[in-house]
Amino acid sequence: MNLDNHNDCNNDYDDDKPKTPLEEDCCGNGCVPCVFDVHKKLLNEWESRKAQNVKVKTSSNLLSLLSYKPFVITDICKTSEDYILLHLEYKESKIQNGVSLHLIPGQYVMLHSWCMSRPYTPISWTRRSLILLIKVYKQGKFSTCLRDVPLGSIIDIRGPYGDFKYENNSFQQIIMFSIGSGIAALYPIAKTIIDDETELTKIHLIAGFQSIIHVPLKKELRYLTDYWNFKCTLQLSQSNGMSF
Ligand SMILES: Cc1cc2nc3c(=O)[nH]c(=O)nc-3n(C[C@H](O)[C@H](O)[C@H](O)COP(=O)(O)OP(=O)(O)OC[C@H]3O[C@@H](n4cnc5c(N)ncnc54)[C@H](O)[C@@H]3O)c2cc1C
Repeated sequence: MNLDNHNDCNNDYDDDKPKTPLEEDCCGNGCVPCVFDVHKKLLNEWESRKAQNVKVKTSSNLLSLLSYKPFVITDICKTSEDYILLHLEYKESKIQNGVSLHLIPGQYVMLHSWCMSRPYTPISWTRRSLILLIKVYKQGKFSTCLRDVPLGSIIDIRGPYGDFKYENNSFQQIIMFSIGSGIAALYPIAKTIIDDETELTKIHLIAGFQSIIHVPLKKELRYLTDYWNFKCTLQLSQSNGMSF
């Protein structure tokens, strides 16, 4: 029996068995998930597949669960008072045939740079690039570095992680709640559902922010409200809420 698994990438496996990370692959920052935890999970899955004689047909994901891949920062733009959009593109100009970036909406990746690691949830992506919505905290170590980094710098990325899976048309209506940067996880799920013409599911996204100047992705949310099945309510703690 063969199973397709878009989270598994060829370079994470040695002849079907997950490669053991080197000691130096762990950055010692207490990442969640740590490469050793990821390896342990993959090994358990591999052992139970082996016991059942199931072979995984590994798909070619540009991203790797166990090792970092270099991405170039191609653009950084401010999207509201304290949010930026970070555009990243895979560094190598040539990618092997059939290899591309695979993500399920809502999954996150680990970014590593400046001897620190932080998880972020891509809001959109192509075969070789992705866009992150980052809330910049005044004293945030990583987010301020991302805001100030020169274009062309390299950031290492591994992933994707997270098991959330949405089944097409499985609900009549979904009500999504987010506060602050939590919108980064909900936006790609909502957009995927709204973009799917076979979807009959209605979505109501209720997103909380301090005030209207703090709300990111205003243009993108307005675009989604042009569709019959999307509604967005902003709950603003420093003024009255609004819908669009
Ligand atoms: C699964 C997952 C997905 C995520 N996805 C996203 C995403 O898509 N977008 C996003 O923006 N975030 C996301 N995050 C959060 C992100 O990983 C980081 O935690 C966030 O960017 C803050 O990192 P930082 O290094 O800038 O802040 P840190 O330096 O870690 O600081 C965290 C907080 O402490 C405060 N602080 C730090 N130092 C001080 C000090 N000396 N005095 C007082 N306060 C201080 C900071 O202001 C900040 O509020 C995600 C988190 C998880 C777990």
